[in-house]
Amino acid sequence: MKVRFWGTRGSIPSPGKETIKYGGNTTCLEVSLNSGRKIIIDAGSGIRALSQKVISQGITHIDLFLTHSHWDHIQGFPFFAPIYIPNFSMKIYAASPTFERLPNILEGQMKYIYYPVPFKEIGATIEFGKVKKSGISLDGVKISSIRTNHPLETHAFKLSEGGKTFVFMTDNELDNPDIAIVPYEELLNFVKNSDVLVHDAQYTKEEIEQYKGWGHSSWQETVSFAKKGNVKRLYITHYSPSRKDEETDKIVERADELGGVGLIVRGAREEEEFEV
Ligand SMILES: [Zn+2]
Repeated sequence: MKVRFWGTRGSIPSPGKETIKYGGNTTCLEVSLNSGRKIIIDAGSGIRALSQKVISQGITHIDLFLTHSHWDHIQGFPFFAPIYIPNFSMKIYAASPTFERLPNILEGQMKYIYYPVPFKEIGATIEFGKVKKSGISLDGVKISSIRTNHPLETHAFKLSEGGKTFVFMTDNELDNPDIAIVPYEELLNFVKNSDVLVHDAQYTKEEIEQYKGWGHSSWQETVSFAKKGNVKRLYITHYSPSRKDEETDKIVERADELGGVGLIVRGAREEEEFEV
């Protein structure tokens, strides 16, 4: 499977000359399965640019997985142009309780006081799908989920295809196990031996003291987690809106050093594509 980043920023879009390299759009990833099926994870502002690719390639169906409904993970949805095309269909997946809330989440953010077109008037056919505790299967790819440590119920997703494993785990707090909802060991088990892990690293160890309980991690703790989990490649993501490219460059360099032999660490960059 192939993965491409369309948004790597946390909290709020942060365009400008200081964020050109890693990108200013909020969370969105495209996953292309070997069967050709396209999956999108999260609908942050990065999903707008992905619209054009989906339309130009004549794709008529997308499976969208939502980790949770915080603004930076859904705000791009009304700007995903294919939802206005009548022969387009989308199945939106989430784990419980986000799954049960999906109609409210999507209709809510498109209410007329926020947005001109109501959700009920978009042309595409929308279906909802639940990511069950036992996981689901799409074209033979197993997709499972686990709750993360975030104030709102958030889920990480794991995709396994052809012996390769990809885990997307953002909005997860690793630095404060004393207040964890999900035990560290359970999360570690979920990512164990994965080929690629994309994980939240919004803060540094120094900064995170003031953000305890906010549901994000320091890059140092993220690297340590990936090492313990015997992950092969780690991409840090969900950068703080105020993080400048030159700071991220330094963080990625130090993180890769800390990763040592056996763990490659990279910084997720908008429009970067890689094979898992
Ligand atoms: Zn977020």
